[in-house]
Amino acid sequence: GAAYVDGAFVPVGEARISILDTGFSRSDVTYDVVAVWNGAFFRLEDHLERFERSCRTLRLSPPYDRAEIARILVQLVRSSRLRSAYVETICTRGVPPPGSRDPRTFENSFFAYAIPYVWIVPDASTTGTMDAVIARTVQRIPVTSVDPTVKNFHWADLTRGLYEAYDRGATHPILLDADGNVTEGPGYNVFAVSDGTLLTPAAGVLEGITRRTVLELAEADGIPVSVGPFGEDRLRDAVEMFATSTAGGVMPIVTLDGAPIGDGAVGPTTRHLRERYWAAHADTRYL
Ligand code: PLP
Repeated sequence: GAAYVDGAFVPVGEARISILDTGFSRSDVTYDVVAVWNGAFFRLEDHLERFERSCRTLRLSPPYDRAEIARILVQLVRSSRLRSAYVETICTRGVPPPGSRDPRTFENSFFAYAIPYVWIVPDASTTGTMDAVIARTVQRIPVTSVDPTVKNFHWADLTRGLYEAYDRGATHPILLDADGNVTEGPGYNVFAVSDGTLLTPAAGVLEGITRRTVLELAEADGIPVSVGPFGEDRLRDAVEMFATSTAGGVMPIVTLDGAPIGDGAVGPTTRHLRERYWAAHADTRYL
């Protein structure tokens, strides 16, 4: 892989940042992740737009504009020589000038790296599946200082959820919020199919670009969609479930708390949307 640090392209293993960078020391940072699939970015413009919006919300000003970042990413992927890559952009508040705590005086940092495409689930494009649990030991606690729609590094709840899933013999947690509403998991949004309708939470989750793609494809195919709050009882009634992420696309969930979902096989709606998702990678509208 390759990284972009301090204006230079370097092998990812050689990339270094300052221990004083507030992205590291204060989680004062936002990021985005876009995939390159077979040599082409998937929805790069949408990812850059979300990154820009996240920066604006946190009053971060990356030292480059959108077009410059796009050029950096193209060069980064070229220098990585990867055909399919996981490409992360990061903007931090930067290193404080000596003695200053006034964020207006900080020069914000921009970093990026490209590494081989990351799969949350192995073989997710064809046969990979997930075994999920509803997390009991941890809630998705919105970091009060960060809007959940801003991609952030506050992963303590998500990581604790992962430990719980493994402790309970599963692989992937689904976190509820304090009101018992379904939210998301570590790096993925969650969908259920119930009564012929595709359900996904609306609020308190990251507005995933993969989630958006699935909603667009469902709409184009006339699949009824309901975007709004629902509790774990709706998940238990579901005949199909899946998770979505830039790292793996549409990933079927086949068990919940140890019990099969539907008949325990990948259902027709999930299979259809997974095929449509990967086919969209050749659709010029998304490039
Ligand atoms: N939810 C969280 C908390 C995430 O970190 C991510 C992506 O990393 C997602 C959902 C999925 O978003 P996207 O489809 O844009 O990758």
